Amino acid sequence: MAKAPTPRERLIVGLDVASVNEARSLVDRIGDAACHYKIGHALQFCGGLDLARDLVRSGRRVFLDVKLHDIPNTVANGIARIADLGVGFVTVHAYPQTMAAAVEAARGTGLEILAVSVLTSMGDDDLKNAGYALSSADLVLHRAKQAAEAGVAGIVCAPPEVSAVRAAIGHACQLVTPGIRPAGTDAGDQKRIATPESAIAAGADYLVAARPVIRAGDPAAAADAIVAEIEAGLAHRSGGGPRAVLL
Ligand code: C5P
Repeated sequence: MAKAPTPRERLIVGLDVASVNEARSLVDRIGDAACHYKIGHALQFCGGLDLARDLVRSGRRVFLDVKLHDIPNTVANGIARIADLGVGFVTVHAYPQTMAAAVEAARGTGLEILAVSVLTSMGDDDLKNAGYALSSADLVLHRAKQAAEAGVAGIVCAPPEVSAVRAAIGHACQLVTPGIRPAGTDAGDQKRIATPESAIAAGADYLVAARPVIRAGDPAAAADAIVAEIEAGLAHRSGGGPRAVLL
C-alpha cells in the first residue's frame, strides 16, 4: 500500500498565473511552505512542461491538469509521454474507455491517473443541454464507481460530493478537491466550497488551492495556514472530533 501523503503533500497549489516566469518566482516565494504544484492549460502552452520537469528535478511533486479525453490509442500515447516528464498526477475525463487506456499506459511508471468526475461549472441544466439524463450529483456517483472499476488512483470532485463518493466507493480511490477556501477568503467564481479543515475532515485526501495562496500578500504564510488546517482536519478524522461543516 502506498505511503500516506504528509499534510504538506496534501496541499496542491495551483499555479494559475499568466507566465512561467511568474510561476517560478511564486514557487521561490513559497519556498518550503508547499511541495506540490498543479500546472494547468495556460502554462502548458507557454513553457509549463519545462517548469514541470524543473519542479520534479527540485524534489517537488507535480500535478499536470490536462484533462485528456480522446480515442484510447491517442490517450495511451499521450499518457506515456506525460509519464516521461516525471510528474505524479495527471487528469483525464472520467469516461470508461479513456480511464482504462490511461491506467494501462501509466502502469509501471510513477504517474497516477486522476479522473475528473463532472466539471464543477456544470449544473443540472448544463448536463441536460449536453444530452445527459442524470443530475450532476447522480452523474458524479455513477462516474466515481466507473473510475474505481477502471483502477484510477484518484477522483477530482467538489467538497460537497466527498462524503457521498466515499460512501459509494470506499477507499478505492483518493479524492482530490478544488473549491478550497480558508474562512474569510474570497470565494471568487467557486460556488461549492469548503474550508481546508472541513474538506479533509469530510474525507478528501488532497486539496487544490490556487487563489487563496497565489493571491495572498504572503503566499508562504497562506500555504502554512492551509497545512495547519489540514492537520486539524486529519485529527478530526482520526479522533472522531466535531463533525465538519461545509461552508
Ligand atoms: O483559485 P482556486 O483555488 O479556485 O483554483 C482552483 C483550481 O482548481 C483551478 O486551477 C481550477 O482550474 C481547478 N479546478 C476546479 N474545479 C474543478 C477542477 C479543477 O476549480 N472541477
